[in-house]
Amino acid sequence: MFEKEILQSKNPTFSFEIFPPKGVGNLESIYDAVDALASLMPDFISVTYGAGGSSRDNTVEIASVIQNKYNIPTLAHLTCVGSTKLEMDNILGALSEKGIKNILALRGDLNEEAVLGEFKYASDLITYIKDKYNFNIVSACYPEKHLEAYSMASDLQHLKYKVNSGADMLVSQLFFDNEVFYRFLDKTRVLGIEVPIIAGIMPITSPKQIERMVSLCGATVPETVQKFVKAYGHNSMAIKEAGIAYATQQIIDLLAHGVDGIHLYTMNQADIAKRIAENLRGILYSLKVKRA
Ligand code: FAD
Repeated sequence: MFEKEILQSKNPTFSFEIFPPKGVGNLESIYDAVDALASLMPDFISVTYGAGGSSRDNTVEIASVIQNKYNIPTLAHLTCVGSTKLEMDNILGALSEKGIKNILALRGDLNEEAVLGEFKYASDLITYIKDKYNFNIVSACYPEKHLEAYSMASDLQHLKYKVNSGADMLVSQLFFDNEVFYRFLDKTRVLGIEVPIIAGIMPITSPKQIERMVSLCGATVPETVQKFVKAYGHNSMAIKEAGIAYATQQIIDLLAHGVDGIHLYTMNQADIAKRIAENLRGILYSLKVKRA
């Protein structure tokens, strides 16, 4: 039981994303990270599927360990672009057997070799899963619009269609400017999108990482962030300190604004997630008690 129940009873949620390491059989490092993250008692942990070149093969296995060994609700990402229905059935069947109840249903990025396969958009996968299976469905949303989208308005219409197809909850692309997210929330509510929308936050840990993120998803980088990356980027410890402080500040403001939850893109760096979780402990506790 996710997430519908989690969202009703534990709002605001606090959760983590991890990605499987590249290569087969190289899971020790991820289990160390899972162990550390589990001790922070998140509401759920999501496991990516092939994102940034990470292994697809290990998503089911890692998701199963989180669900069954740590007893933490798991959200398994799944992309459909280039895949057949049979391939999706194989993975969905394996996830179901392992007791995973929640799928983040995605299209996936179109690269040069991408063949569309039997699914064109995430909404096709959502409809397919809803017809045949009993998973809770989560879907992605983009506060600064998806890079391919012609306009924010068209992207929002497609988002509404995804929700109408069966998405129970949305998790956002990372953003560094909370005002962007608040404007986005207002637009979704005007359109009648009423499912919970979880804010995706990625702590900045190096100048390279932020450059990569901006090129991958087009996130706006506020002047404050540009300044601290320039000032501290030469020193790995200093930039991490600044990144943790900035993410903490972003989250405190989001929680004060009443967001449905925070999903932390941990990049498998449990130490950073731990520092942020410690900064927020009293705040999260006070909000959960207040809203219970
Ligand atoms: P869609 O919702 O299908 O949208 C893709 C584009 O098509 C958008 O521009 C949209 O406006 C447009 N569109 C949608 N429906 C229609 C329609 N009916 N007609 C015309 N246009 C339409 N990638 C991975 O490979 N693995 C992961 O694990 C992963 N996890 C992610 C987690 C989150 C929270 C986010 C935000 C992204 C993640 N991604 C991941 C990246 C994601 O796969 C890409 O952003 C991808 O390009 C779009 O996926 P989507 O599910 O949002 O696609």
